[in-house]
Amino acid sequence: IAVADTTPLNPPASGPIMCTMSEKAYNITLIEGDGIGPEVAAAAVRVLEAAGACIEWDRQEIGVAAREQYGVLLPGQALASIQKNGVALKGPVTTPSAEGYPSLNVTVRKSLDLYACLRPVKSLPGARSLYQDVDLVVVRENTEDLYAGLELEIVPGVVQSVKVITRAASTRIARFAFEYAEAHGRKLVTAVHKANIMKLSDGLFLNCCRGVAKEYPQIEYTEMIVDAACHHLVLKPGRFDVLVMENLYGDIISDLAAGLVGGLGLVPGANLGENCAVFEATHGSWPEGAGKGLANPTAFILTSAMMMRHLGEDVIADRIESAIGDTYLDGGCLTSDQGGSASTAEFTDQVMRCLSGVPA
Ligand code: NAD
Repeated sequence: IAVADTTPLNPPASGPIMCTMSEKAYNITLIEGDGIGPEVAAAAVRVLEAAGACIEWDRQEIGVAAREQYGVLLPGQALASIQKNGVALKGPVTTPSAEGYPSLNVTVRKSLDLYACLRPVKSLPGARSLYQDVDLVVVRENTEDLYAGLELEIVPGVVQSVKVITRAASTRIARFAFEYAEAHGRKLVTAVHKANIMKLSDGLFLNCCRGVAKEYPQIEYTEMIVDAACHHLVLKPGRFDVLVMENLYGDIISDLAAGLVGGLGLVPGANLGENCAVFEATHGSWPEGAGKGLANPTAFILTSAMMMRHLGEDVIADRIESAIGDTYLDGGCLTSDQGGSASTAEFTDQVMRCLSGVPA
Protein backbone atom coordinates (compact mmCIF):
# COMPACT_ATOMS: atom_id res chain seq x y z
CA ILE A 1 0.00 0.00 0.00
CA ALA A 2 1.67 3.16 -1.08
CA VAL A 3 -0.76 6.00 -1.23
CA ALA A 4 1.61 8.26 0.64
CA ASP A 5 4.55 7.43 -1.52
CA THR A 6 3.53 7.56 -5.13
CA THR A 7 5.52 9.83 -7.40
CA PRO A 8 4.81 11.05 -9.92
CA LEU A 9 1.08 10.76 -10.46
CA ASN A 10 -0.26 10.03 -13.90
CA PRO A 11 -2.10 12.87 -15.54
CA PRO A 12 -5.83 12.20 -15.79
CA ALA A 13 -6.92 10.65 -19.05
CA SER A 14 -9.30 12.71 -21.09
CA GLY A 15 -12.82 11.53 -21.83
CA PRO A 16 -14.83 9.02 -19.83
CA ILE A 17 -12.97 6.04 -18.48
CA MET A 18 -14.83 2.77 -18.44
CA CYS A 19 -13.68 -0.24 -16.48
CA THR A 20 -10.07 -0.24 -17.60
CA MET A 21 -8.80 -3.12 -15.52
CA SER A 22 -7.64 -5.90 -17.72
CA GLU A 23 -8.94 -9.04 -16.15
CA LYS A 24 -11.92 -9.25 -13.86
CA ALA A 25 -14.20 -7.37 -11.59
CA TYR A 26 -13.20 -7.49 -7.96
CA ASN A 27 -15.66 -8.70 -5.34
CA ILE A 28 -15.41 -6.18 -2.53
CA THR A 29 -17.50 -5.77 0.57
CA LEU A 30 -18.96 -2.28 0.90
CA ILE A 31 -20.12 -1.07 4.30
CA GLU A 32 -21.45 2.45 4.04
CA GLY A 33 -21.64 2.85 7.81
CA ASP A 34 -23.44 5.44 9.89
CA GLY A 35 -23.61 9.23 10.10
CA ILE A 36 -21.68 10.74 7.19
CA GLY A 37 -20.69 7.24 6.05
CA PRO A 38 -23.30 6.84 3.27
CA GLU A 39 -22.44 10.26 1.79
CA VAL A 40 -18.69 9.69 1.63
CA ALA A 41 -19.18 6.10 0.49
CA ALA A 42 -21.42 7.25 -2.38
CA ALA A 43 -18.70 9.71 -3.40
CA ALA A 44 -16.00 7.05 -3.40
CA VAL A 45 -18.11 4.58 -5.37
CA ARG A 46 -18.79 7.23 -8.04
CA VAL A 47 -15.11 8.13 -8.28
CA LEU A 48 -13.93 4.52 -8.38
CA GLU A 49 -16.28 3.72 -11.24
CA ALA A 50 -15.31 6.86 -13.13
CA ALA A 51 -11.64 6.01 -12.66
CA GLY A 52 -12.20 2.68 -14.38
CA ALA A 53 -12.47 0.26 -11.47
CA CYS A 54 -14.58 -2.84 -12.09
CA ILE A 55 -16.05 -3.82 -8.78
CA GLU A 56 -18.90 -6.10 -7.82
CA TRP A 57 -20.00 -4.58 -4.52
CA ASP A 58 -21.18 -6.93 -1.83
CA ARG A 59 -23.18 -4.45 0.22
CA GLN A 60 -23.35 -5.15 3.94
CA GLU A 61 -24.20 -3.14 7.03
CA ILE A 62 -22.54 -2.73 10.41
CA GLY A 63 -23.62 -0.34 13.14
CA VAL A 64 -26.84 1.56 13.68
CA ALA A 65 -27.83 0.98 10.05
CA ALA A 66 -27.44 -2.77 10.58
CA ARG A 67 -29.52 -2.71 13.73
CA GLU A 68 -32.33 -0.91 11.90
CA GLN A 69 -32.25 -3.52 9.14
CA TYR A 70 -31.34 -6.76 10.91
CA GLY A 71 -31.81 -6.06 14.61
CA VAL A 72 -28.12 -6.49 15.42
CA LEU A 73 -25.22 -4.06 15.28
CA LEU A 74 -22.74 -6.52 13.84
CA PRO A 75 -24.40 -9.12 11.60
CA GLY A 76 -22.34 -12.26 11.13
CA GLN A 77 -22.94 -12.04 7.39
CA ALA A 78 -20.99 -8.77 7.22
CA LEU A 79 -17.91 -10.36 8.77
CA ALA A 80 -18.38 -13.46 6.60
CA SER A 81 -18.53 -11.28 3.50
CA ILE A 82 -15.23 -9.57 4.38
CA GLN A 83 -13.63 -12.94 5.06
CA LYS A 84 -14.86 -14.28 1.73
CA ASN A 85 -13.84 -11.28 -0.34
CA GLY A 86 -10.66 -10.49 1.57
CA VAL A 87 -11.14 -6.76 0.96
CA ALA A 88 -13.69 -4.28 2.28
CA LEU A 89 -14.31 -0.58 1.90
CA LYS A 90 -15.87 0.49 5.16
CA GLY A 91 -17.47 3.74 6.21
CA PRO A 92 -17.34 4.85 9.83
CA VAL A 93 -19.81 3.25 12.22
CA THR A 94 -21.36 4.47 15.43
CA THR A 95 -21.26 2.27 18.50
CA PRO A 96 -24.25 3.36 20.61
CA SER A 97 -22.67 4.86 23.70
CA ALA A 98 -23.83 4.06 27.25
CA GLU A 99 -25.66 0.96 26.05
CA GLY A 100 -22.92 -1.39 27.13
CA TYR A 101 -21.86 -2.52 23.66
CA PRO A 102 -18.19 -3.18 23.01
CA SER A 103 -16.79 -1.00 20.23
CA LEU A 104 -17.91 -2.31 16.86
CA ASN A 105 -14.67 -1.26 15.20
CA VAL A 106 -12.55 -2.98 17.80
CA THR A 107 -14.69 -6.10 17.42
CA VAL A 108 -14.32 -6.09 13.63
CA ARG A 109 -10.56 -5.54 13.81
CA LYS A 110 -10.05 -8.26 16.40
CA SER A 111 -12.43 -10.74 14.76
CA LEU A 112 -10.57 -10.47 11.46
CA ASP A 113 -7.14 -10.05 13.09
CA LEU A 114 -6.58 -6.77 11.29
CA TYR A 115 -3.54 -6.13 13.38
CA ALA A 116 -2.00 -3.18 11.53
CA CYS A 117 -3.67 0.18 11.13
CA LEU A 118 -1.93 2.25 8.49
CA ARG A 119 -2.64 5.96 8.14
CA PRO A 120 -0.59 7.98 5.69
CA VAL A 121 -0.74 11.66 6.60
CA LYS A 122 0.46 13.79 3.73
CA SER A 123 0.14 17.46 2.92
CA LEU A 124 -2.11 18.05 -0.05
CA PRO A 125 -0.96 21.08 -2.07
CA GLY A 126 -3.80 23.59 -2.14
CA ALA A 127 -5.44 22.29 1.02
CA ARG A 128 -5.99 24.75 3.83
CA SER A 129 -3.70 23.38 6.52
CA LEU A 130 -1.18 24.34 9.18
CA TYR A 131 1.76 22.75 7.34
CA GLN A 132 2.70 22.04 3.75
CA ASP A 133 5.58 19.62 4.31
CA VAL A 134 4.02 16.72 6.18
CA ASP A 135 4.61 13.24 4.84
CA LEU A 136 4.41 10.74 7.66
CA VAL A 137 2.78 7.39 8.25
CA VAL A 138 1.12 6.34 11.49
CA VAL A 139 1.36 2.59 12.11
CA ARG A 140 -0.97 1.66 14.94
CA GLU A 141 -1.21 -1.72 16.64
CA ASN A 142 -4.85 -2.63 16.30
CA THR A 143 -5.67 -5.61 18.50
CA GLU A 144 -4.68 -5.03 22.12
CA ASP A 145 -3.61 -2.35 24.65
CA LEU A 146 -6.47 -0.72 26.59
CA TYR A 147 -8.77 -1.76 23.75
CA ALA A 148 -8.78 -5.30 25.12
CA GLY A 149 -12.05 -4.22 26.75
CA LEU A 150 -11.04 -5.59 30.16
CA GLU A 151 -12.62 -3.23 32.64
CA LEU A 152 -13.86 -4.06 36.11
CA GLU A 153 -15.26 -2.34 39.12
CA ILE A 154 -13.17 -3.47 42.06
CA VAL A 155 -15.40 -1.81 44.65
CA PRO A 156 -18.02 0.91 44.07
CA GLY A 157 -16.18 4.01 42.97
CA VAL A 158 -13.00 2.19 41.95
CA VAL A 159 -12.66 0.82 38.44
CA GLN A 160 -9.79 -0.73 36.62
CA SER A 161 -8.97 -0.88 32.91
CA VAL A 162 -6.46 -3.51 31.95
CA LYS A 163 -3.79 -2.69 29.41
CA VAL A 164 -2.63 -5.78 27.60
CA ILE A 165 0.63 -5.71 25.67
CA THR A 166 2.14 -8.89 24.29
CA ARG A 167 5.51 -9.70 22.80
CA ALA A 168 3.81 -11.37 19.83
CA ALA A 169 1.62 -8.39 18.86
CA SER A 170 4.35 -5.82 19.54
CA THR A 171 6.90 -7.69 17.45
CA ARG A 172 4.37 -8.17 14.66
CA ILE A 173 3.49 -4.46 14.43
CA ALA A 174 7.14 -3.42 14.70
CA ARG A 175 8.01 -5.74 11.84
CA PHE A 176 5.09 -4.38 9.83
CA ALA A 177 6.40 -0.83 10.32
CA PHE A 178 9.93 -1.71 9.23
CA GLU A 179 8.72 -3.78 6.29
CA TYR A 180 6.51 -0.89 5.22
CA ALA A 181 9.41 1.54 5.59
CA GLU A 182 11.69 -0.68 3.53
CA ALA A 183 9.12 -1.30 0.82
CA HIS A 184 8.32 2.40 0.45
CA GLY A 185 11.77 3.93 0.66
CA ARG A 186 11.18 5.41 4.08
CA LYS A 187 14.28 6.27 6.07
CA LEU A 188 13.22 6.54 9.70
CA VAL A 189 10.99 4.59 12.09
CA THR A 190 10.09 6.22 15.41
CA ALA A 191 8.61 4.12 18.20
CA VAL A 192 6.22 6.20 20.30
CA HIS A 193 5.78 5.06 23.91
CA LYS A 194 5.44 5.90 27.59
CA ALA A 195 7.90 3.37 28.95
CA ASN A 196 9.19 5.82 31.53
CA ILE A 197 5.88 5.36 33.36
CA MET A 198 4.57 2.01 32.13
CA LYS A 199 7.85 0.22 32.46
CA LEU A 200 6.49 -3.28 31.99
CA SER A 201 3.89 -2.84 29.25
CA ASP A 202 5.43 -0.07 27.16
CA GLY A 203 8.84 -1.40 28.15
CA LEU A 204 7.95 -4.69 26.46
CA PHE A 205 6.64 -2.86 23.39
CA LEU A 206 9.85 -0.87 23.16
CA ASN A 207 12.07 -3.91 23.59
CA CYS A 208 10.23 -5.62 20.75
CA CYS A 209 10.74 -2.57 18.52
CA ARG A 210 14.44 -2.49 19.40
CA GLY A 211 14.81 -6.15 18.56
CA VAL A 212 13.11 -5.77 15.18
CA ALA A 213 15.04 -2.56 14.43
CA LYS A 214 18.30 -4.53 14.57
CA GLU A 215 17.09 -6.58 11.60
CA TYR A 216 16.80 -3.41 9.49
CA PRO A 217 20.15 -1.60 9.90
CA GLN A 218 19.53 0.43 6.74
CA ILE A 219 16.55 2.17 8.40
CA GLU A 220 17.20 4.66 11.18
CA TYR A 221 15.36 3.90 14.40
CA THR A 222 14.47 6.36 17.16
CA GLU A 223 12.19 6.38 20.19
CA MET A 224 10.07 9.19 21.56
CA ILE A 225 7.85 9.49 24.61
CA VAL A 226 4.28 10.07 23.48
CA ASP A 227 3.84 13.50 25.09
CA ALA A 228 7.09 14.73 23.57
CA ALA A 229 6.01 13.23 20.24
CA CYS A 230 2.80 15.32 20.34
CA HIS A 231 4.84 18.42 21.05
CA HIS A 232 7.30 17.78 18.22
CA LEU A 233 4.52 16.82 15.82
CA VAL A 234 2.77 20.11 16.37
CA LEU A 235 5.96 22.16 16.11
CA LYS A 236 7.81 20.38 13.32
CA PRO A 237 5.90 17.50 11.75
CA GLY A 238 8.21 17.42 8.72
CA ARG A 239 10.87 15.66 10.80
CA PHE A 240 8.77 12.50 11.16
CA ASP A 241 8.62 9.60 8.75
CA VAL A 242 7.10 6.29 9.95
CA LEU A 243 5.75 6.21 13.51
CA VAL A 244 4.88 2.94 15.20
CA MET A 245 2.89 2.74 18.40
CA GLU A 246 0.38 0.92 20.55
CA ASN A 247 -3.33 1.14 19.94
CA LEU A 248 -4.39 4.09 22.12
CA TYR A 249 -1.43 6.30 21.25
CA GLY A 250 -2.13 5.49 17.59
CA ASP A 251 -5.73 6.57 17.91
CA ILE A 252 -4.78 9.93 19.39
CA ILE A 253 -1.72 10.62 17.24
CA SER A 254 -3.74 9.82 14.09
CA ASP A 255 -6.25 12.58 14.81
CA LEU A 256 -3.51 14.98 15.87
CA ALA A 257 -1.59 14.32 12.66
CA ALA A 258 -4.77 14.75 10.60
CA GLY A 259 -5.13 18.18 12.14
CA LEU A 260 -1.71 19.14 10.81
CA VAL A 261 -2.67 18.59 7.17
CA GLY A 262 -6.17 20.08 7.12
CA GLY A 263 -8.32 17.85 9.25
CA LEU A 264 -9.98 14.48 9.48
CA GLY A 265 -11.73 14.98 6.18
CA LEU A 266 -8.42 14.46 4.38
CA VAL A 267 -6.69 11.44 5.90
CA PRO A 268 -7.22 7.91 4.54
CA GLY A 269 -6.48 4.64 6.27
CA ALA A 270 -6.42 0.87 6.20
CA ASN A 271 -6.68 -1.99 8.65
CA LEU A 272 -4.55 -4.86 7.46
CA GLY A 273 -4.20 -8.49 8.48
CA GLU A 274 -2.78 -11.65 6.97
CA ASN A 275 -6.06 -12.63 5.32
CA CYS A 276 -8.19 -9.49 5.05
CA ALA A 277 -7.88 -5.78 4.48
CA VAL A 278 -10.52 -3.30 5.56
CA PHE A 279 -10.07 0.18 4.16
CA GLU A 280 -11.56 2.97 6.22
CA ALA A 281 -10.74 6.63 6.65
CA THR A 282 -9.35 7.95 9.91
CA HIS A 283 -12.47 9.96 10.71
CA GLY A 284 -15.54 8.74 12.55
CA SER A 285 -19.22 8.90 11.67
CA TRP A 286 -19.67 12.57 12.69
CA PRO A 287 -23.41 12.07 13.44
CA GLU A 288 -24.10 15.82 13.69
CA GLY A 289 -22.83 16.33 10.14
CA ALA A 290 -24.89 13.52 8.62
CA GLY A 291 -27.26 14.17 5.74
CA LYS A 292 -26.24 17.80 5.35
CA GLY A 293 -23.69 17.50 2.58
CA LEU A 294 -21.04 18.84 4.94
CA ALA A 295 -18.66 15.88 4.91
CA ASN A 296 -15.43 16.20 3.02
CA PRO A 297 -15.19 12.92 1.08
CA THR A 298 -11.46 13.35 0.33
CA ALA A 299 -10.37 10.97 3.09
CA PHE A 300 -12.71 8.24 1.94
CA ILE A 301 -11.91 8.71 -1.74
CA LEU A 302 -8.18 8.52 -0.95
CA THR A 303 -8.95 5.44 1.13
CA SER A 304 -10.51 3.86 -1.94
CA ALA A 305 -7.33 4.69 -3.86
CA MET A 306 -5.31 2.90 -1.17
CA MET A 307 -7.59 -0.07 -1.69
CA MET A 308 -6.97 -0.10 -5.44
CA ARG A 309 -3.23 0.05 -4.83
CA HIS A 310 -3.54 -2.86 -2.42
CA LEU A 311 -5.21 -4.78 -5.27
CA GLY A 312 -2.33 -3.93 -7.59
CA GLU A 313 -4.39 -1.41 -9.58
CA ASP A 314 -1.84 1.39 -9.41
CA VAL A 315 -3.07 3.15 -12.54
CA ILE A 316 -6.54 3.58 -11.09
CA ALA A 317 -5.14 4.64 -7.71
CA ASP A 318 -2.93 7.20 -9.47
CA ARG A 319 -5.89 8.56 -11.41
CA ILE A 320 -7.94 9.04 -8.27
CA GLU A 321 -5.11 10.68 -6.32
CA SER A 322 -4.33 12.90 -9.27
CA ALA A 323 -7.96 14.04 -9.56
CA ILE A 324 -8.07 14.81 -5.85
CA GLY A 325 -4.79 16.70 -6.17
CA ASP A 326 -6.12 18.73 -9.11
CA THR A 327 -9.31 19.52 -7.22
CA TYR A 328 -7.31 21.05 -4.38
CA LEU A 329 -4.91 22.87 -6.68
CA ASP A 330 -7.89 24.38 -8.50
CA GLY A 331 -9.36 25.28 -5.11
CA GLY A 332 -12.67 26.52 -6.49
CA CYS A 333 -14.86 23.70 -5.25
CA LEU A 334 -13.85 22.73 -1.73
CA THR A 335 -15.98 21.72 1.25
CA SER A 336 -16.58 23.95 4.28
CA ASP A 337 -13.88 22.34 6.45
CA GLN A 338 -11.51 23.59 3.75
CA GLY A 339 -12.97 27.06 3.67
CA GLY A 340 -15.15 26.40 0.64
CA SER A 341 -18.90 26.19 0.19
CA ALA A 342 -19.22 23.02 -1.89
CA SER A 343 -21.36 20.16 -0.65
CA THR A 344 -20.08 16.60 -0.52
CA ALA A 345 -21.71 15.89 -3.88
CA GLU A 346 -20.49 19.12 -5.52
CA PHE A 347 -16.93 18.39 -4.42
CA THR A 348 -17.29 14.90 -5.85
CA ASP A 349 -18.62 16.34 -9.14
CA GLN A 350 -15.44 18.39 -9.36
CA VAL A 351 -13.26 15.32 -8.71
CA MET A 352 -15.18 13.59 -11.51
CA ARG A 353 -14.51 16.51 -13.85
CA CYS A 354 -10.82 16.33 -13.02
CA LEU A 355 -10.87 12.59 -13.66
CA SER A 356 -12.25 13.01 -17.10
CA GLY A 357 -9.99 15.93 -17.92
CA VAL A 358 -12.89 18.35 -18.26
CA PRO A 359 -11.87 21.83 -17.06
CA ALA A 360 -13.72 23.30 -14.10
P1 NAD B 1 -15.52 12.14 14.12
O1 NAD B 1 -14.27 11.78 13.40
O2 NAD B 1 -16.75 11.49 13.65
O3 NAD B 1 -15.73 13.72 14.07
C1 NAD B 1 -14.89 14.64 14.75
C2 NAD B 1 -14.94 15.98 14.00
O4 NAD B 1 -14.10 15.87 12.85
C3 NAD B 1 -16.31 16.38 13.48
O5 NAD B 1 -16.98 17.15 14.41
C4 NAD B 1 -15.96 17.17 12.24
O6 NAD B 1 -15.68 18.50 12.61
C5 NAD B 1 -14.66 16.55 11.77
N1 NAD B 1 -14.84 15.58 10.66
C6 NAD B 1 -14.84 14.25 10.74
N2 NAD B 1 -14.98 13.70 9.53
C7 NAD B 1 -15.07 14.73 8.66
C8 NAD B 1 -15.21 14.81 7.25
N3 NAD B 1 -15.29 13.72 6.46
N4 NAD B 1 -15.27 16.03 6.68
C9 NAD B 1 -15.18 17.14 7.42
N5 NAD B 1 -15.03 17.13 8.76
C10 NAD B 1 -14.97 15.93 9.37
O7 NAD B 1 -15.25 11.81 15.66
P2 NAD B 1 -16.26 11.69 16.88
O8 NAD B 1 -17.26 12.80 16.82
O9 NAD B 1 -15.38 11.57 18.04
O10 NAD B 1 -16.96 10.30 16.70
C11 NAD B 1 -18.28 10.16 16.19
C12 NAD B 1 -18.64 8.69 16.13
O11 NAD B 1 -17.78 8.00 15.22
C13 NAD B 1 -18.50 7.94 17.47
O12 NAD B 1 -19.60 7.08 17.61
C14 NAD B 1 -17.21 7.15 17.30
O13 NAD B 1 -17.19 5.99 18.08
C15 NAD B 1 -17.27 6.82 15.82
N6 NAD B 1 -15.96 6.52 15.20
C16 NAD B 1 -15.96 5.57 14.25
C17 NAD B 1 -14.79 5.28 13.59
C18 NAD B 1 -14.81 4.20 12.53
O14 NAD B 1 -15.85 3.62 12.28
N7 NAD B 1 -13.69 3.92 11.89
C19 NAD B 1 -13.62 6.00 13.88
C20 NAD B 1 -13.67 7.01 14.83
C21 NAD B 1 -14.86 7.26 15.50
